[in-house]
Amino acid sequence: MTVSQTPRVGVLAVQGDFREHIASARAAGADPRPVRRPQDLEGISGLILPGGESTTIAKLARVFGLLEPIRELIADGLPVYGSCAGLIMLADRIEDPALDARGRPQESFGGLDMTVKRNAFGRQRESFEADLAFRGLEPDPVHAVFIRAPLVLEAGPGVEVLARVPAPQLERHADAEALDLASDGRIVAVRSENLLATSFHPEVTDERRIHELFMTIVARR
Ligand code: GLN
Repeated sequence: MTVSQTPRVGVLAVQGDFREHIASARAAGADPRPVRRPQDLEGISGLILPGGESTTIAKLARVFGLLEPIRELIADGLPVYGSCAGLIMLADRIEDPALDARGRPQESFGGLDMTVKRNAFGRQRESFEADLAFRGLEPDPVHAVFIRAPLVLEAGPGVEVLARVPAPQLERHADAEALDLASDGRIVAVRSENLLATSFHPEVTDERRIHELFMTIVARR
C-alpha cells in the first residue's frame, strides 16, 4: 500500500475563482480537487472556499446538496480556508444578507463566531490593494487585493485577528458612513482553530504564504 504524502484538499467549485485557488493550493503542496457534489468531499483533509459571489455560492451549495455536508465537516473540525466570498460563507452572522424572492436571508456554512459586512468598501472603490501586517508572517507584509470585499465587523473571543486594514487606508476606501471607524470593523483576516479566512484574494497574486499557512493547519490535524 502506498501512502500519499500530499494532502488532498477540496476546492469548492460551484462558482467563483476556484481555478486560481486550485493553482495556489497545488503550489503550496496540496493535491487539490474540485468539489461540486457531496461525493467530492470524500477523503479530503481540507477545504478551500473561493472568492466569487456568496449569494450564488450559497444557493448552488444548497442545490447541489453540499450545504449540510460541509456544515457537518466544519463541525467535525475539518480545516477550511475561505477568501472573500469564502470568508462570508464561514461567518456565523452576515450583517446585511441578500434576501431571496421570499425574503429569506442568504445562508452561510458558518463556523467562525463573527459578524461580516458584505461589500464594505463602498461603491466608489470596489477594488484596491494594500500591504498588510499579518500576524505570524512578519516581517514581510502581505500584499492584499480587495475586490468588493467584506469586513469583519466584530469577532468573538475565540477568533484570532490576523490582519486589519490600516485606518488611513480604510478611511480612503470604505463607505465611512456605514462603518464605525473607531470600532474593530477593520478586520480582514481571522483564524479560529481549523478555520482561516481572509477578505482579500491571495490566489490572484504571487502571495503563497496564506495557502502555505492553511497547509500547516491541514498537516497538523
Ligand atoms: N461581494 C462578494 C460577496 O458578497 C464577494 C466578492 C469577492 O469574493 N471578491 O459575496
